[in-house]
Amino acid sequence: LVGALTLALALAACGTEEVANGDEGADGEGGLVGVAMPTETSERWIADGAATEAGLEEAGYEVELQFAGDDIPTQQDQIDQMITQGVEALIIAAIDGTALSGQLDAAAAEGIPVVSYDRLIRDNENVDFYVTFDNYNVGVQQATALLVGLGLLDEDGNEGDAEGPINVELFAGSLDDNNAHFFWDGAMDTLEPYFDDGTLEVPSGQMDIEQAATLRWSQEEAQSRMDDLLTAHYSDDTELDGVLSAFDGLSRGIITALENAGFPDTIEEGMPIITGQDAEIASVTLIDQGVQDSTIFKDTRLLAEQGVTAVQAFLEGDEPEPNDTETYDNGVKVVPSYLLDSTIIYDHNIEQELVETGYYTADEVEAGQ
Ligand code: BGC
Repeated sequence: LVGALTLALALAACGTEEVANGDEGADGEGGLVGVAMPTETSERWIADGAATEAGLEEAGYEVELQFAGDDIPTQQDQIDQMITQGVEALIIAAIDGTALSGQLDAAAAEGIPVVSYDRLIRDNENVDFYVTFDNYNVGVQQATALLVGLGLLDEDGNEGDAEGPINVELFAGSLDDNNAHFFWDGAMDTLEPYFDDGTLEVPSGQMDIEQAATLRWSQEEAQSRMDDLLTAHYSDDTELDGVLSAFDGLSRGIITALENAGFPDTIEEGMPIITGQDAEIASVTLIDQGVQDSTIFKDTRLLAEQGVTAVQAFLEGDEPEPNDTETYDNGVKVVPSYLLDSTIIYDHNIEQELVETGYYTADEVEAGQ
C-alpha cells in the first residue's frame, strides 16, 4: 500500500498519468497479476482469493483470479493461460505442490515472479517467495488443543487432571500438500510423550501419516474412514475419546460419521474431543454449540496482505522482506518466507478472536454461514 500511495502521490505531483518506471501505478495500471487458488469447496480459499484480489486492486493492479476445483490439470491450464495473457506476477496456492514445474519454468522464462501462497510449491527453483503461516506450529497447536480438550493439559500448559489410557484417532491432510507434513510433524512431536508413556493410545494402530492421510482434504473421505474405524475397532465397548483432525472439513466428516454411529450430539454428552483448522464458519458454529472442540484460526486477511506486499516489492524492482530463510526447503532451494502466527479457538474465545476482530459477525457464528 505504501508503494501504491507513493505512486499515487507521484502521479498527482507530475499531473500526468505516466510514471517513471513504466507500467507501474495506481488505478489498475500496475499491470495484471494472476492469482491461482485451489478450490472453492472450502471457504477459506474463497476468502483468500477475495482478500488477495481486493488488496491487489487497491494497490493499483488488475487481477485474474481463478479457482481450479481441486483438479491438477485445471490449475496447470489456468496458470498457463495467465502467462499467455501477460501477467506481471503470479500468486499460486497449489493443489499438488509438485505438479507445477512446467508452469514455473514458463513463468521464469518470461521473467514473471512467482509467490507461493500458503502451500509451498516444490521441486522447482523458480519459486521466488513464500507467504504462509508457521505450519509446524499449527500442528503443535492442534495437538495442544486436543490435550487440553482431553484434560491432559490446561490452557496455560500445566498438567491436567485426566489420566490414561485415553483413546484417540488421527486424521492428516493430503500427502501432496507440503503443509500436511508440517501439521503432522508438529502434532506428532507434541503427542509423542503421551503415546510413549501409554497415556494416549490409538486403537486402530494407524499412526503413520500415510495411514492417516486424506486425499485432497476431502470431507467425504474423512467421513468414510471414520465409519470404517468405528466398525473395525469400536464395535465392542472400546471408547473413542478424541480425534486429531487437521482441517475443519475433515472434522465435519468425522462428526457426521460419529453422529450416524449414534454418538451423542455434544461433547458434554459424550461426543469425542475433535480438533480442526481454518475456523471455517460451519465449524465455528459447531464449536459454539459444543459439538467440535477447537480449531486453528489463520487470518486469511493477513496472509493475503503479505501476498500483495510480496508482489508489489517484485514489481517495484525490490525483493520482499522474509522473516524466515531456513525452514522451507522445496527440494531444490530454501525459499525465503514470510510466516504468520495462528491462534487456537475454543468456544470461550470465539467472541474475542473472531467476532471482535471482524472476521465473522455474531449472526454468522449463530447461523453457521
Ligand atoms: C492449508 C490449510 C487448509 C488445508 C485444506 C492447507 O494447505 O494450509 O489451512 O486447511 O490446506 O484446504
